[in-house]
Amino acid sequence: MLEIGHFIGGKRVAGKSGRSQDVMQPMDGSVRGKVALASLAELREAIENAKAAQPAWAATNPQRRVRVLMKFLELAQAEMDELADTLAREHGKTVADAKGDIQRGLEVVEVCIGAPHMLKGEFTDAAGPGIDVYSMRQPLGVVAGITPFNFPAMIPLWKIAPAIAAGNAFILKPSERDPSVPMRIAELFVEAGLPAGILNVVNGDKEVVDGILDDADIKAIGFVGSTPIAQYIYARGCANGKRVQCFGGAKNHMIIMPDADMDQTVDALIGAGYGSAGERCMAISVAVPVGHETAERLIEKLVPRVESLKVGPSTDSSADFGPVVTKEALARIKGYVDTGVQEGAKLLVDGRNFSLQGYENGYYMGGCLFDNVTADMRIYKEEIFGPVLSIVRAATYEDALKLPNEHEMGNGVAIFTRDGDAARDFASRVQAGMVGINVPIPVPIAYYTFGGWKASGFGDLNQHGSDAFRFYTKTKTVTSRWPSGIKDGAEFVIPTMN
Ligand code: NAD
Repeated sequence: MLEIGHFIGGKRVAGKSGRSQDVMQPMDGSVRGKVALASLAELREAIENAKAAQPAWAATNPQRRVRVLMKFLELAQAEMDELADTLAREHGKTVADAKGDIQRGLEVVEVCIGAPHMLKGEFTDAAGPGIDVYSMRQPLGVVAGITPFNFPAMIPLWKIAPAIAAGNAFILKPSERDPSVPMRIAELFVEAGLPAGILNVVNGDKEVVDGILDDADIKAIGFVGSTPIAQYIYARGCANGKRVQCFGGAKNHMIIMPDADMDQTVDALIGAGYGSAGERCMAISVAVPVGHETAERLIEKLVPRVESLKVGPSTDSSADFGPVVTKEALARIKGYVDTGVQEGAKLLVDGRNFSLQGYENGYYMGGCLFDNVTADMRIYKEEIFGPVLSIVRAATYEDALKLPNEHEMGNGVAIFTRDGDAARDFASRVQAGMVGINVPIPVPIAYYTFGGWKASGFGDLNQHGSDAFRFYTKTKTVTSRWPSGIKDGAEFVIPTMN
Protein backbone atom coordinates (compact mmCIF):
# COMPACT_ATOMS: atom_id res chain seq x y z
CA MET A 1 0.00 0.00 0.00
CA LEU A 2 1.36 3.41 -0.96
CA GLU A 3 1.49 6.06 1.78
CA ILE A 4 1.85 9.41 0.03
CA GLY A 5 2.63 12.38 2.24
CA HIS A 6 4.11 15.66 1.04
CA PHE A 7 7.43 16.86 -0.37
CA ILE A 8 8.70 19.69 1.80
CA GLY A 9 12.18 21.08 2.26
CA GLY A 10 13.74 18.73 -0.30
CA LYS A 11 12.36 15.46 1.06
CA ARG A 12 9.26 13.32 1.43
CA VAL A 13 7.49 13.86 4.72
CA ALA A 14 4.53 12.01 6.22
CA GLY A 15 1.19 13.80 6.52
CA LYS A 16 0.42 15.05 10.00
CA SER A 17 -3.15 16.29 9.66
CA GLY A 18 -4.78 12.92 10.31
CA ARG A 19 -6.80 13.35 7.10
CA SER A 20 -6.17 11.26 3.98
CA GLN A 21 -7.90 9.92 0.90
CA ASP A 22 -7.66 6.67 -1.06
CA VAL A 23 -5.68 6.67 -4.30
CA MET A 24 -7.43 4.28 -6.67
CA GLN A 25 -6.33 2.21 -9.65
CA PRO A 26 -9.13 2.85 -12.16
CA MET A 27 -8.32 -0.17 -14.33
CA ASP A 28 -9.47 -2.62 -11.64
CA GLY A 29 -11.06 -0.43 -8.98
CA SER A 30 -8.48 -1.46 -6.37
CA VAL A 31 -7.01 0.85 -3.75
CA ARG A 32 -3.34 1.65 -4.46
CA GLY A 33 -2.77 3.55 -1.28
CA LYS A 34 -3.54 6.72 0.62
CA VAL A 35 -2.63 10.33 0.02
CA ALA A 36 -2.40 12.72 2.93
CA LEU A 37 -4.58 15.83 2.87
CA ALA A 38 -2.54 18.72 4.24
CA SER A 39 -3.55 21.04 7.03
CA LEU A 40 -2.85 24.76 6.96
CA ALA A 41 0.09 24.15 9.32
CA GLU A 42 1.70 21.80 6.78
CA LEU A 43 1.14 24.33 4.00
CA ARG A 44 2.80 26.95 6.22
CA GLU A 45 5.79 24.65 6.70
CA ALA A 46 6.19 24.35 2.93
CA ILE A 47 5.90 28.11 2.48
CA GLU A 48 8.50 28.77 5.20
CA ASN A 49 10.90 26.37 3.47
CA ALA A 50 10.24 28.02 0.12
CA LYS A 51 10.70 31.53 1.52
CA ALA A 52 13.98 30.61 3.16
CA ALA A 53 15.44 29.00 0.04
CA GLN A 54 14.23 31.43 -2.63
CA PRO A 55 16.63 34.43 -2.26
CA ALA A 56 19.77 32.31 -2.76
CA TRP A 57 18.16 30.53 -5.71
CA ALA A 58 17.20 33.87 -7.30
CA ALA A 59 20.80 35.01 -6.80
CA THR A 60 22.18 31.89 -8.53
CA ASN A 61 23.04 32.86 -12.08
CA PRO A 62 20.40 31.79 -14.60
CA GLN A 63 22.69 29.45 -16.51
CA ARG A 64 23.42 27.52 -13.35
CA ARG A 65 19.71 27.39 -12.58
CA VAL A 66 18.88 25.85 -15.95
CA ARG A 67 21.63 23.25 -15.59
CA VAL A 68 19.34 21.71 -12.96
CA LEU A 69 16.61 21.53 -15.61
CA MET A 70 19.02 19.85 -18.02
CA LYS A 71 19.97 17.23 -15.45
CA PHE A 72 16.29 16.73 -14.54
CA LEU A 73 15.49 15.99 -18.20
CA GLU A 74 18.16 13.31 -18.25
CA LEU A 75 16.85 11.69 -15.05
CA ALA A 76 13.21 11.84 -16.12
CA GLN A 77 13.96 10.38 -19.56
CA ALA A 78 15.86 7.52 -17.94
CA GLU A 79 12.85 6.80 -15.73
CA MET A 80 10.20 7.24 -18.42
CA ASP A 81 8.91 3.64 -18.30
CA GLU A 82 8.41 3.59 -14.52
CA LEU A 83 6.86 7.08 -14.46
CA ALA A 84 4.46 6.18 -17.28
CA ASP A 85 3.44 2.93 -15.60
CA THR A 86 2.66 4.73 -12.32
CA LEU A 87 0.83 7.52 -14.12
CA ALA A 88 -1.30 5.06 -16.12
CA ARG A 89 -2.19 3.08 -12.99
CA GLU A 90 -3.40 6.14 -11.08
CA HIS A 91 -5.05 7.99 -13.96
CA GLY A 92 -6.40 5.18 -16.11
CA LYS A 93 -4.96 6.31 -19.46
CA THR A 94 -2.86 3.81 -21.40
CA VAL A 95 0.90 3.58 -20.77
CA ALA A 96 1.63 4.87 -24.29
CA ASP A 97 -0.59 7.90 -23.67
CA ALA A 98 1.02 8.40 -20.23
CA LYS A 99 4.39 8.65 -21.98
CA GLY A 100 2.94 11.41 -24.15
CA ASP A 101 1.72 13.20 -21.00
CA ILE A 102 5.24 13.11 -19.54
CA GLN A 103 6.92 13.97 -22.85
CA ARG A 104 4.76 17.08 -23.43
CA GLY A 105 5.82 18.23 -19.97
CA LEU A 106 9.49 17.57 -20.67
CA GLU A 107 9.26 19.57 -23.89
CA VAL A 108 8.39 22.65 -21.84
CA VAL A 109 11.35 21.91 -19.54
CA GLU A 110 13.56 21.78 -22.68
CA VAL A 111 12.35 25.17 -23.82
CA CYS A 112 12.88 26.61 -20.32
CA ILE A 113 16.57 25.87 -20.74
CA GLY A 114 16.44 29.07 -22.79
CA ALA A 115 15.40 30.98 -19.66
CA PRO A 116 18.58 33.09 -19.48
CA HIS A 117 17.61 34.50 -22.86
CA MET A 118 13.92 34.88 -21.99
CA LEU A 119 14.77 36.74 -18.78
CA LYS A 120 16.90 39.41 -20.45
CA GLY A 121 15.69 42.96 -20.00
CA GLU A 122 15.77 45.94 -22.35
CA PHE A 123 18.25 48.79 -22.53
CA THR A 124 18.12 52.25 -24.09
CA ASP A 125 21.36 54.15 -24.30
CA ALA A 126 21.12 57.97 -24.13
CA ALA A 127 17.38 58.22 -23.59
CA GLY A 128 18.13 61.83 -22.51
CA PRO A 129 21.24 63.82 -21.66
CA GLY A 130 23.42 61.36 -19.74
CA ILE A 131 20.34 59.19 -19.18
CA ASP A 132 20.15 55.45 -19.76
CA VAL A 133 17.03 53.38 -19.21
CA TYR A 134 16.90 49.64 -18.65
CA SER A 135 14.42 47.06 -17.49
CA MET A 136 14.93 43.78 -15.70
CA ARG A 137 12.75 40.80 -14.92
CA GLN A 138 12.81 39.66 -11.33
CA PRO A 139 11.20 36.57 -9.79
CA LEU A 140 8.02 37.02 -7.76
CA GLY A 141 9.21 34.99 -4.75
CA VAL A 142 7.03 32.05 -3.69
CA VAL A 143 4.46 30.99 -6.28
CA ALA A 144 1.97 28.12 -6.43
CA GLY A 145 0.36 25.77 -8.93
CA ILE A 146 -2.93 23.88 -8.49
CA THR A 147 -3.33 21.17 -11.11
CA PRO A 148 -5.97 18.70 -12.41
CA PHE A 149 -6.02 14.90 -12.52
CA ASN A 150 -5.95 14.52 -16.28
CA PHE A 151 -2.31 15.46 -16.99
CA PRO A 152 -0.49 14.73 -13.73
CA ALA A 153 2.98 15.13 -15.28
CA MET A 154 2.51 17.62 -18.12
CA ILE A 155 0.64 20.39 -16.35
CA PRO A 156 2.76 20.46 -13.17
CA LEU A 157 5.88 20.61 -15.40
CA TRP A 158 4.40 23.45 -17.49
CA LYS A 159 4.27 25.47 -14.29
CA ILE A 160 7.28 24.28 -12.31
CA ALA A 161 9.87 24.65 -15.10
CA PRO A 162 9.40 28.34 -16.02
CA ALA A 163 8.74 29.35 -12.40
CA ILE A 164 11.94 27.87 -11.00
CA ALA A 165 14.03 28.78 -14.06
CA ALA A 166 13.01 32.38 -13.39
CA GLY A 167 14.27 32.14 -9.79
CA ASN A 168 11.03 31.53 -7.87
CA ALA A 169 10.28 28.90 -5.26
CA PHE A 170 7.25 26.74 -6.06
CA ILE A 171 4.44 25.08 -4.10
CA LEU A 172 2.56 22.46 -6.12
CA LYS A 173 -0.88 21.25 -5.08
CA PRO A 174 -1.47 18.38 -7.52
CA SER A 175 -4.71 16.48 -7.99
CA GLU A 176 -5.44 14.16 -5.07
CA ARG A 177 -6.44 11.46 -7.59
CA ASP A 178 -2.97 10.79 -9.04
CA PRO A 179 -0.29 12.31 -6.78
CA SER A 180 2.56 9.78 -7.21
CA VAL A 181 4.10 11.18 -10.38
CA PRO A 182 4.13 14.83 -9.17
CA MET A 183 5.85 13.61 -5.97
CA ARG A 184 8.47 11.73 -7.98
CA ILE A 185 9.00 14.77 -10.24
CA ALA A 186 9.87 16.85 -7.15
CA GLU A 187 12.28 14.17 -5.96
CA LEU A 188 13.97 14.01 -9.37
CA PHE A 189 14.45 17.78 -9.37
CA VAL A 190 16.27 17.53 -6.04
CA GLU A 191 18.37 14.65 -7.40
CA ALA A 192 19.17 16.93 -10.34
CA GLY A 193 20.57 19.54 -7.97
CA LEU A 194 17.61 21.78 -7.10
CA PRO A 195 18.17 23.23 -3.63
CA ALA A 196 15.85 21.97 -0.90
CA GLY A 197 12.77 24.17 -0.46
CA ILE A 198 12.60 25.48 -4.07
CA LEU A 199 10.02 22.89 -5.09
CA ASN A 200 7.49 21.61 -2.56
CA VAL A 201 4.48 19.37 -3.13
CA VAL A 202 1.60 19.77 -0.72
CA ASN A 203 -1.13 17.21 -1.27
CA GLY A 204 -4.64 18.02 -0.27
CA ASP A 205 -8.12 19.23 -1.04
CA LYS A 206 -10.13 22.45 -0.73
CA GLU A 207 -8.66 23.20 2.72
CA VAL A 208 -5.12 23.57 1.42
CA VAL A 209 -6.28 25.29 -1.80
CA ASP A 210 -8.03 27.94 0.28
CA GLY A 211 -4.87 28.27 2.36
CA ILE A 212 -2.87 28.95 -0.82
CA LEU A 213 -5.46 31.51 -1.97
CA ASP A 214 -5.31 33.41 1.32
CA ASP A 215 -1.60 33.23 2.22
CA ALA A 216 0.11 36.60 1.80
CA ASP A 217 3.49 34.98 1.08
CA ILE A 218 2.24 33.36 -2.13
CA LYS A 219 2.55 35.92 -4.89
CA ALA A 220 1.11 34.09 -7.89
CA ILE A 221 -1.14 31.11 -8.58
CA GLY A 222 -1.41 29.09 -11.78
CA PHE A 223 -4.51 26.89 -11.84
CA VAL A 224 -5.77 24.29 -14.31
CA GLY A 225 -9.04 22.41 -13.78
CA SER A 226 -12.77 22.73 -14.28
CA THR A 227 -14.40 26.09 -15.03
CA PRO A 228 -16.38 26.54 -11.77
CA ILE A 229 -13.22 25.99 -9.69
CA ALA A 230 -11.17 28.17 -12.09
CA GLN A 231 -13.65 31.02 -11.55
CA TYR A 232 -13.53 30.56 -7.78
CA ILE A 233 -9.70 30.50 -7.66
CA TYR A 234 -9.46 33.51 -9.97
CA ALA A 235 -11.91 35.61 -7.97
CA ARG A 236 -10.53 34.78 -4.53
CA GLY A 237 -6.84 34.89 -5.58
CA CYS A 238 -7.28 38.27 -7.34
CA ALA A 239 -9.25 39.67 -4.39
CA ASN A 240 -6.22 38.80 -2.26
CA GLY A 241 -3.97 40.80 -4.59
CA LYS A 242 -2.20 37.87 -6.24
CA ARG A 243 -1.30 37.38 -9.86
CA VAL A 244 -3.60 34.58 -11.03
CA GLN A 245 -4.06 32.61 -14.24
CA CYS A 246 -6.77 29.94 -14.41
CA PHE A 247 -7.46 27.53 -17.24
CA GLY A 248 -10.86 25.87 -17.18
CA GLY A 249 -13.06 23.40 -19.01
CA ALA A 250 -13.72 23.01 -22.70
CA LYS A 251 -16.11 22.00 -25.45
CA ASN A 252 -13.97 21.69 -28.54
CA HIS A 253 -15.60 21.67 -31.97
CA MET A 254 -14.30 20.16 -35.18
CA ILE A 255 -15.84 21.71 -38.30
CA ILE A 256 -15.83 19.32 -41.25
CA MET A 257 -16.14 21.02 -44.61
CA PRO A 258 -17.61 19.18 -47.64
CA ASP A 259 -14.18 19.06 -49.31
CA ALA A 260 -12.38 17.46 -46.33
CA ASP A 261 -10.65 14.13 -46.91
CA MET A 262 -13.11 11.95 -45.00
CA ASP A 263 -10.69 9.12 -44.19
CA GLN A 264 -8.16 11.52 -42.68
CA THR A 265 -10.94 13.37 -40.88
CA VAL A 266 -12.33 10.22 -39.28
CA ASP A 267 -8.84 9.07 -38.23
CA ALA A 268 -8.29 12.45 -36.59
CA LEU A 269 -11.72 12.54 -34.99
CA ILE A 270 -11.57 9.08 -33.48
CA GLY A 271 -8.22 9.78 -31.81
CA ALA A 272 -9.09 13.28 -30.62
CA GLY A 273 -12.59 12.33 -29.45
CA TYR A 274 -11.88 9.07 -27.64
CA GLY A 275 -8.14 9.07 -26.79
CA SER A 276 -7.61 9.12 -23.01
CA ALA A 277 -11.34 8.28 -22.73
CA GLY A 278 -12.11 11.87 -23.74
CA GLU A 279 -10.56 13.16 -20.52
CA ARG A 280 -8.50 15.87 -22.21
CA CYS A 281 -9.22 19.57 -22.17
CA MET A 282 -8.30 19.53 -25.87
CA ALA A 283 -10.44 16.48 -26.76
CA ILE A 284 -12.87 17.02 -29.62
CA SER A 285 -16.34 16.57 -28.17
CA VAL A 286 -18.42 18.13 -30.98
CA ALA A 287 -18.16 17.25 -34.68
CA VAL A 288 -19.87 19.70 -37.04
CA PRO A 289 -20.26 18.39 -40.59
CA VAL A 290 -21.26 21.11 -43.04
CA GLY A 291 -24.12 20.02 -45.32
CA HIS A 292 -26.31 16.92 -45.34
CA GLU A 293 -24.09 14.92 -47.65
CA THR A 294 -20.97 15.56 -45.52
CA ALA A 295 -22.85 14.42 -42.43
CA GLU A 296 -23.98 11.20 -44.09
CA ARG A 297 -20.45 10.39 -45.33
CA LEU A 298 -19.02 11.14 -41.90
CA ILE A 299 -21.51 8.90 -40.09
CA GLU A 300 -21.06 6.05 -42.53
CA LYS A 301 -17.33 5.95 -41.79
CA LEU A 302 -17.40 6.97 -38.14
CA VAL A 303 -19.97 4.56 -36.70
CA PRO A 304 -18.00 1.34 -37.41
CA ARG A 305 -14.85 2.98 -36.04
CA VAL A 306 -16.55 3.95 -32.77
CA GLU A 307 -18.11 0.49 -32.49
CA SER A 308 -14.72 -1.15 -32.86
CA LEU A 309 -12.78 1.01 -30.41
CA LYS A 310 -10.71 -1.21 -28.14
CA VAL A 311 -11.22 -0.38 -24.49
CA GLY A 312 -8.78 -2.10 -22.15
CA PRO A 313 -6.78 -1.85 -18.97
CA SER A 314 -4.16 0.89 -18.87
CA THR A 315 -1.36 -1.66 -19.15
CA ASP A 316 -2.72 -3.23 -22.37
CA SER A 317 -0.59 -1.81 -25.16
CA SER A 318 -3.25 -2.67 -27.75
CA ALA A 319 -6.03 -0.65 -26.04
CA ASP A 320 -7.23 2.59 -27.67
CA PHE A 321 -8.25 3.94 -24.29
CA GLY A 322 -8.61 2.79 -20.71
CA PRO A 323 -11.03 3.39 -17.86
CA VAL A 324 -12.16 6.83 -16.71
CA VAL A 325 -10.69 8.24 -13.54
CA THR A 326 -13.26 7.43 -10.84
CA LYS A 327 -16.50 5.57 -10.22
CA GLU A 328 -18.20 8.97 -9.78
CA ALA A 329 -16.88 10.17 -13.15
CA LEU A 330 -18.21 6.99 -14.78
CA ALA A 331 -21.67 7.56 -13.29
CA ARG A 332 -21.62 11.24 -14.31
CA ILE A 333 -20.64 10.47 -17.92
CA LYS A 334 -23.26 7.72 -18.27
CA GLY A 335 -25.76 10.15 -16.74
CA TYR A 336 -24.99 12.62 -19.54
CA VAL A 337 -25.63 9.90 -22.13
CA ASP A 338 -29.01 9.20 -20.48
CA THR A 339 -29.73 12.94 -20.59
CA GLY A 340 -28.83 13.12 -24.29
CA VAL A 341 -31.30 10.33 -25.07
CA GLN A 342 -34.01 12.11 -23.02
CA GLU A 343 -33.26 15.39 -24.78
CA GLY A 344 -33.97 13.74 -28.14
CA ALA A 345 -30.46 13.29 -29.56
CA LYS A 346 -29.99 10.09 -31.59
CA LEU A 347 -27.58 7.68 -29.87
CA LEU A 348 -25.82 5.97 -32.79
CA VAL A 349 -23.35 4.03 -30.62
CA ASP A 350 -24.12 3.21 -26.99
CA GLY A 351 -21.11 2.32 -24.84
CA ARG A 352 -22.90 2.51 -21.50
CA ASN A 353 -23.14 -1.23 -20.90
CA PHE A 354 -19.55 -2.08 -21.73
CA SER A 355 -17.79 -4.29 -19.21
CA LEU A 356 -14.34 -5.85 -19.37
CA GLN A 357 -13.94 -9.48 -18.45
CA GLY A 358 -11.54 -9.90 -15.54
CA TYR A 359 -11.77 -6.18 -14.72
CA GLU A 360 -15.41 -5.95 -13.64
CA ASN A 361 -14.59 -3.42 -10.90
CA GLY A 362 -12.74 -1.07 -13.27
CA TYR A 363 -14.35 2.20 -14.38
CA TYR A 364 -14.96 1.33 -18.02
CA MET A 365 -17.38 2.37 -20.67
CA GLY A 366 -17.33 2.11 -24.43
CA GLY A 367 -17.31 5.00 -26.88
CA CYS A 368 -20.67 6.75 -27.36
CA LEU A 369 -21.72 8.69 -30.45
CA PHE A 370 -24.71 11.02 -30.74
CA ASP A 371 -26.24 12.46 -33.92
CA ASN A 372 -28.79 15.28 -34.22
CA VAL A 373 -27.47 17.11 -31.17
CA THR A 374 -28.66 20.72 -31.02
CA ALA A 375 -27.23 23.81 -29.37
CA ASP A 376 -29.95 23.98 -26.70
CA MET A 377 -29.20 20.51 -25.28
CA ARG A 378 -27.30 20.05 -22.01
CA ILE A 379 -25.04 17.45 -23.64
CA TYR A 380 -23.94 20.22 -26.01
CA LYS A 381 -23.69 23.06 -23.55
CA GLU A 382 -21.85 21.26 -20.74
CA GLU A 383 -18.45 19.57 -20.64
CA ILE A 384 -18.94 15.78 -20.37
CA PHE A 385 -15.24 14.86 -20.11
CA GLY A 386 -15.69 11.27 -21.22
CA PRO A 387 -15.71 9.12 -24.39
CA VAL A 388 -18.83 10.77 -25.82
CA LEU A 389 -18.85 12.58 -29.16
CA SER A 390 -21.77 14.69 -30.37
CA ILE A 391 -22.56 15.43 -34.00
CA VAL A 392 -24.22 18.80 -34.52
CA ARG A 393 -25.25 19.23 -38.14
CA ALA A 394 -24.81 22.62 -39.82
CA ALA A 395 -26.32 23.63 -43.16
CA THR A 396 -23.61 26.13 -44.10
CA TYR A 397 -20.11 27.19 -43.08
CA GLU A 398 -21.54 30.32 -41.42
CA ASP A 399 -23.92 28.16 -39.33
CA ALA A 400 -21.01 25.95 -38.35
CA LEU A 401 -18.81 28.89 -37.33
CA LYS A 402 -21.59 30.26 -35.15
CA LEU A 403 -21.51 27.16 -32.93
CA PRO A 404 -18.03 27.54 -31.36
CA ASN A 405 -18.41 31.30 -31.46
CA GLU A 406 -21.60 31.26 -29.41
CA HIS A 407 -20.49 28.50 -27.03
CA GLU A 408 -19.62 29.51 -23.47
CA MET A 409 -16.23 27.75 -23.71
CA GLY A 410 -13.43 28.62 -26.12
CA ASN A 411 -10.44 26.35 -25.58
CA GLY A 412 -9.48 24.52 -28.80
CA VAL A 413 -11.23 24.23 -32.15
CA ALA A 414 -10.42 22.64 -35.51
CA ILE A 415 -11.45 22.81 -39.14
CA PHE A 416 -10.91 20.04 -41.64
CA THR A 417 -10.83 21.25 -45.23
CA ARG A 418 -8.71 21.52 -48.36
CA ASP A 419 -9.98 25.06 -48.95
CA GLY A 420 -7.35 27.64 -47.96
CA ASP A 421 -9.85 30.50 -47.99
CA ALA A 422 -12.18 28.74 -45.58
CA ALA A 423 -9.30 27.75 -43.28
CA ARG A 424 -7.93 31.28 -43.25
CA ASP A 425 -11.32 32.84 -42.59
CA PHE A 426 -11.96 30.32 -39.82
CA ALA A 427 -8.61 30.95 -38.10
CA SER A 428 -9.29 34.66 -38.16
CA ARG A 429 -12.94 34.72 -37.01
CA VAL A 430 -13.31 31.80 -34.61
CA GLN A 431 -13.58 32.70 -30.92
CA ALA A 432 -11.21 30.22 -29.30
CA GLY A 433 -7.65 30.34 -28.04
CA MET A 434 -6.14 27.46 -30.04
CA VAL A 435 -7.03 26.61 -33.64
CA GLY A 436 -6.18 23.53 -35.67
CA ILE A 437 -6.30 23.45 -39.46
CA ASN A 438 -6.48 19.74 -40.32
CA VAL A 439 -5.01 19.21 -36.83
CA PRO A 440 -7.54 17.84 -34.35
CA ILE A 441 -5.80 18.63 -31.04
CA PRO A 442 -3.97 21.89 -31.65
CA VAL A 443 -1.94 21.96 -28.40
CA PRO A 444 0.72 24.52 -29.32
CA ILE A 445 4.34 23.36 -29.21
CA ALA A 446 6.29 24.34 -26.09
CA TYR A 447 7.71 27.63 -27.38
CA TYR A 448 4.24 28.98 -28.26
CA THR A 449 1.70 29.68 -25.56
CA PHE A 450 -1.27 27.57 -24.47
CA GLY A 451 -4.56 29.03 -23.31
CA GLY A 452 -8.28 29.13 -24.01
CA TRP A 453 -10.70 32.03 -24.31
CA LYS A 454 -14.07 32.83 -22.71
CA ALA A 455 -14.96 30.43 -19.85
CA SER A 456 -11.92 28.28 -20.70
CA GLY A 457 -9.34 30.77 -19.45
CA PHE A 458 -9.17 33.57 -16.88
CA GLY A 459 -6.26 35.98 -16.67
CA ASP A 460 -4.11 37.76 -19.22
CA LEU A 461 -1.18 35.46 -19.80
CA ASN A 462 -1.09 31.93 -21.19
CA GLN A 463 0.87 28.87 -20.11
CA HIS A 464 4.35 28.07 -21.47
CA GLY A 465 6.14 29.97 -24.25
CA SER A 466 7.10 33.58 -23.61
CA ASP A 467 3.97 34.23 -21.49
CA ALA A 468 5.18 31.83 -18.79
CA PHE A 469 8.25 33.98 -18.14
CA ARG A 470 6.10 37.09 -18.03
CA PHE A 471 3.72 35.43 -15.60
CA TYR A 472 6.45 34.29 -13.22
CA THR A 473 8.46 37.54 -13.20
CA LYS A 474 7.81 41.20 -12.49
CA THR A 475 9.38 43.97 -14.51
CA LYS A 476 11.48 46.68 -12.93
CA THR A 477 12.52 49.69 -15.01
CA VAL A 478 15.58 51.72 -14.01
CA THR A 479 16.27 55.26 -15.23
CA SER A 480 19.83 56.35 -14.50
CA ARG A 481 21.64 59.65 -14.96
CA TRP A 482 25.27 60.28 -14.14
CA PRO A 483 26.64 63.59 -12.81
CA SER A 484 27.88 64.63 -16.25
CA GLY A 485 24.27 64.74 -17.44
CA ILE A 486 22.82 66.56 -14.42
CA LYS A 487 21.99 70.28 -14.82
CA ASP A 488 22.34 72.56 -11.80
CA GLY A 489 19.15 73.64 -10.03
CA ALA A 490 15.98 71.94 -8.85
CA GLU A 491 13.25 71.06 -11.37
CA PHE A 492 9.62 71.41 -10.32
CA VAL A 493 7.99 70.56 -13.65
CA ILE A 494 7.49 66.90 -14.61
CA PRO A 495 10.33 65.85 -16.94
CA THR A 496 9.27 65.18 -20.54
CA MET A 497 11.10 64.32 -23.73
CA ASN A 498 10.68 67.88 -25.07
P1 NAD B 1 -11.07 20.07 -10.76
O1 NAD B 1 -11.49 21.46 -11.03
O2 NAD B 1 -12.02 19.17 -10.06
O3 NAD B 1 -9.73 20.05 -9.88
C1 NAD B 1 -8.60 20.81 -10.22
C2 NAD B 1 -7.82 21.13 -8.95
O4 NAD B 1 -8.64 21.93 -8.10
C3 NAD B 1 -7.41 19.90 -8.16
O5 NAD B 1 -6.11 20.09 -7.66
C4 NAD B 1 -8.44 19.86 -7.05
O6 NAD B 1 -7.93 19.30 -5.87
C5 NAD B 1 -8.79 21.31 -6.83
N1 NAD B 1 -10.19 21.48 -6.39
C6 NAD B 1 -11.26 20.72 -6.72
N2 NAD B 1 -12.37 21.19 -6.14
C7 NAD B 1 -12.01 22.27 -5.42
C8 NAD B 1 -12.73 23.19 -4.59
N3 NAD B 1 -14.05 23.08 -4.41
N4 NAD B 1 -12.06 24.19 -4.02
C9 NAD B 1 -10.73 24.32 -4.20
N5 NAD B 1 -9.99 23.48 -4.97
C10 NAD B 1 -10.63 22.46 -5.57
O7 NAD B 1 -10.63 19.46 -12.17
P2 NAD B 1 -10.24 17.94 -12.51
O8 NAD B 1 -11.46 17.10 -12.49
O9 NAD B 1 -9.06 17.52 -11.72
O10 NAD B 1 -9.73 18.11 -14.02
C11 NAD B 1 -10.60 18.09 -15.14
C12 NAD B 1 -10.96 19.48 -15.58
O11 NAD B 1 -9.78 20.23 -15.88
C13 NAD B 1 -11.78 19.50 -16.86
O12 NAD B 1 -12.79 20.48 -16.73
C14 NAD B 1 -10.77 19.90 -17.94
O13 NAD B 1 -11.33 20.51 -19.07
C15 NAD B 1 -9.93 20.84 -17.17
N6 NAD B 1 -8.62 21.01 -17.79
C16 NAD B 1 -8.37 22.20 -18.42
C17 NAD B 1 -7.16 22.40 -19.04
C18 NAD B 1 -6.86 23.70 -19.73
O14 NAD B 1 -5.69 23.97 -20.00
N7 NAD B 1 -7.85 24.54 -20.00
C19 NAD B 1 -6.19 21.39 -19.03
C20 NAD B 1 -6.49 20.20 -18.36
C21 NAD B 1 -7.71 20.02 -17.74
